[in-house]
Amino acid sequence: MTASTEWNIQSRAPACQECGERFIDQQPCHTLLRFDPNGYQRTDLCESCFLKHPCADPIHSSWKGVYQAPPPPTNKTARKEDVETLLRRLVEEQDPENIPMIFVLAVMLERKRILVERAVHTGSDGSRQYVYEHRKSGDTFFVTDPNLQLDHIDGLEEQVANQLAQTALSESQ
Ligand SMILES: [Zn+2]
Repeated sequence: MTASTEWNIQSRAPACQECGERFIDQQPCHTLLRFDPNGYQRTDLCESCFLKHPCADPIHSSWKGVYQAPPPPTNKTARKEDVETLLRRLVEEQDPENIPMIFVLAVMLERKRILVERAVHTGSDGSRQYVYEHRKSGDTFFVTDPNLQLDHIDGLEEQVANQLAQTALSESQ
């Protein structure tokens, strides 16, 4: 269980993982994903290293992004961050019971254009995993498809609302 925890949320590297040069604000950068049975491996590269990358291993997915220097903390987006905080906590906790809720949270954040789906991976057992990227921070989240029926999603959204109310409560104490 703990062995795969580190896979599930991966931050954008602050520097190119090939040449080591630090990314600066608004610099184009490339993210490469490789899947293995436990999850995925993420590599962030600057443009010139991406163009000359040897690609020794098969790359499942890659995309071009823009590095954004982390913004100073603000309270303005409190509501958005509640959903996000809950997603981060549940993804880190790795409790298989939370897989449907993690999925619903990711979809909620995708609708709000906070997350974007970057890759889908189908395992040998037919299970599906999505990699979502946070548009601003560049963090990637590994989300397992719970194969939900539509009528289950309504109930889960209610459960999410309850969880968020609890989170808000415990954070204000
Ligand atoms: Zn580089």
